[in-house]
Amino acid sequence: TRGGLRVYKIVILGDGGVGKSAVTLQFVSHSFLDYHDPTIGKQWNFYAFLFFALKVDIFPEDSYQQQAVIDGEAALLDILDTAGQVEFTAMRDQYMRCGEGFIICYSVTDRHSFQEASEYRKLIARVRLTEDIPLVLIANKLDLQSQRKVTTEEGKNLASQLGCPFYETSAALRHYIDDAFHTLIREIRRKEAQR
Ligand code: GDP
Ligand code: MG
Repeated sequence: TRGGLRVYKIVILGDGGVGKSAVTLQFVSHSFLDYHDPTIGKQWNFYAFLFFALKVDIFPEDSYQQQAVIDGEAALLDILDTAGQVEFTAMRDQYMRCGEGFIICYSVTDRHSFQEASEYRKLIARVRLTEDIPLVLIANKLDLQSQRKVTTEEGKNLASQLGCPFYETSAALRHYIDDAFHTLIREIRRKEAQR
């Protein structure tokens, strides 16, 4: 607990570019940064750099704190937004051990990210030595219907295979973002109550 609030350590996992940071930012600060915005003019140098940096995911992971009242019970969410360091095994194992709940994120526009989702689940299970992990699967970029490569059905099937709740989200439109985080807290509480 911190300041009388129960702290929940949440880790966001998924391939680069699926919207992990966008989802996190929408949840904690109700804002959306679209650095693909074609209307940016003169400062294109800066934006080109920013685009590149985000694209190859060179920005370090970041953590955020957010208070929320879920089912009448206050909580402090400590959210780790991971970024492309999956190859640094020691660091990855560290946050997978410390995390109490995980959001695995893929993009409906990116089939490869969908295939990787189950790999992230395996990684967590390997580090935790248990299959009983509070987890929510999210399929982001729901607003990009014309570019959709992964069906809702496929997402649901994967979620039932993983035994976890599933949401199709849009960080751009802030659709189902709170639901995903709140459901994860409920999963953590439910599994804690079972022990
Ligand atoms: P990360 O690498 O997983 O953290 O992905 P980012 O959060 O950096 O997002 C990658 C790109 O996808 C950025 O251009 C975002 O603006 C964009 N993006 C993220 N979420 C959404 C979404 O829900 N809808 C749309 N249209 N774009 C999104
Ligand atoms: Mg990111």
